[in-house]
Amino acid sequence: MPTDITNTSDELFEIFVNAQTFKTILHSFDDLCQSIRIDRKIIGYGKRSLYKVLTSKLTSWKSKSLWTKIDKRGSQKEYENGNACADMKVCIVGAGPVGLRLAIECALLGARCIVVEKRDRFSRHNVLHLWPYIITDLRNLGAKVFYGKFATGQIEHISIRQLQCILLKIALVLGVEIYSNVTFIDVIEPISTQQAWRAHFKPEAHPIVSTYEFSVLIGADGRRNSLQGFQHKEFRGKLAIGITCNFINHHTREEQNFEEISGVAKIYNPQFFSELQQQTSIDLENIVYYKNDTHYFVMTAKKQSLLDKGVILQDYPDAARLLARDNVNSTQLCKFACEAAQFATKCSTQFAFEFAEDHHGAADVQMFDFTSLFHAVNASRIIERNGKQILMLLVGDSLLESFWPTGSGIGLGFFGLFDTAWSILKFAKHEHPLKVLVERESIYMLLSQSTPENTKNNHQLYSINPATRYQNSNSKSCTIDEIRYLYDSDSIP
Ligand code: FAD
Repeated sequence: MPTDITNTSDELFEIFVNAQTFKTILHSFDDLCQSIRIDRKIIGYGKRSLYKVLTSKLTSWKSKSLWTKIDKRGSQKEYENGNACADMKVCIVGAGPVGLRLAIECALLGARCIVVEKRDRFSRHNVLHLWPYIITDLRNLGAKVFYGKFATGQIEHISIRQLQCILLKIALVLGVEIYSNVTFIDVIEPISTQQAWRAHFKPEAHPIVSTYEFSVLIGADGRRNSLQGFQHKEFRGKLAIGITCNFINHHTREEQNFEEISGVAKIYNPQFFSELQQQTSIDLENIVYYKNDTHYFVMTAKKQSLLDKGVILQDYPDAARLLARDNVNSTQLCKFACEAAQFATKCSTQFAFEFAEDHHGAADVQMFDFTSLFHAVNASRIIERNGKQILMLLVGDSLLESFWPTGSGIGLGFFGLFDTAWSILKFAKHEHPLKVLVERESIYMLLSQSTPENTKNNHQLYSINPATRYQNSNSKSCTIDEIRYLYDSDSIP
């Protein structure tokens, strides 16, 4: 028979499930834990200990359907029932989709995992195209419990903020500790054999993170990666100016009839683009439109068209100077985005697109430079000081930036984080550092070439083991000599 306490807790679980902001998710989860008297110090960290208590105390049909999903994923043999990395402590920098999804893997492996995030809001309306395996992955983790619209019909996209909300909730129930308004600054080496690796954070005197000792550090902090010691290379293509914009979706009948454009490029549909140019003088290379919580558009615009329409004020050869804030007329940029949206949706002349707000409260329209994309030269490093090793790994945009209109950002991001979790597992098993590094760097060589077409197609069998996902996962395509420089130990003379 359910008790009063169970009823109250189930109601609090419902509030947690429905919470829609970073802050309210964290608060409602604290309330839920308090209501079932969870004391982290008593139940311990890692080994999925918090999750086990939650599953025993929360028994509504909704919570049970979530536990069934998570238990199924958690039964994969690599996790050893949540004991595979039981003695491991992980620190993840950045609560973007990739950092949060990796935190879930660390918790499933049984590690204690802390995520620090410098912001306290999830505000990106922009929409991610999801490769099919990501839909399977999220569905198998119970995403639908938190977002009923997920994976209904043909929908294969989700806003960045909604994805963060879902992943944050799953990470929390699995016992991941998440601290907002905390910025990672740098690692602190152990200066004696009694000490372990820690880090400097801002604020410095944070009660938990400032004393947290860990042996795995993950850079999941987006394109401006802040982990020291990783080199990045630039891939420079021809000038590519991306524009993203979000308009409020009022869900009117007319809006319901707008047809999504999952990606149309000039070379494949020249008529669309020449009509657009004739009617509006807008010259685009491609355009994507997704109907989500907002109407979201991403397009690549020709420079001359932006100059002609007064969006860019003066021409400069350097892309950064060209797109500098003082060289862009934001009113004209809004007009440009509206006109392109009106043409692409074939809306009636009475229909007026109204911008959604970005996190500054301004019209949500942005111009990005895709001319140069960065990728890390290596994905991993191991440093050893005074007998203590730290494994440092990059994931997501910190590792490999990609061109958004193809959806490869999150597609490759998830692949890379599974590979990363595999390295954490090997490190936890005390494999020799050089062996861990050879495997990680060998698998990293496959990442940028991966597409939905050339990876394995049984997505239900995907796990953190690269062999379940890549067609030819050679874990020794690098030699020890090639990666030796990534192992920096004070015990090697
Ligand atoms: P991110 O999502 O960038 O997350 C990194 C997180 O780290 C952020 O929350 C950041 O606040 C935090 N952080 C950074 N430094 C620190 C620090 N020192 N300490 C603590 N926390 C830190 N992709 C698309 O496919 N389509 C789009 O339209 C699109 N729009 C985007 C718009 C913006 C403004 C940005 C930044 C990215 C956009 N992307 C888009 C890219 C997409 O968001 C990423 O590919 C995807 O989110 C995976 O990124 P990630 O988790 O690696 O990094």
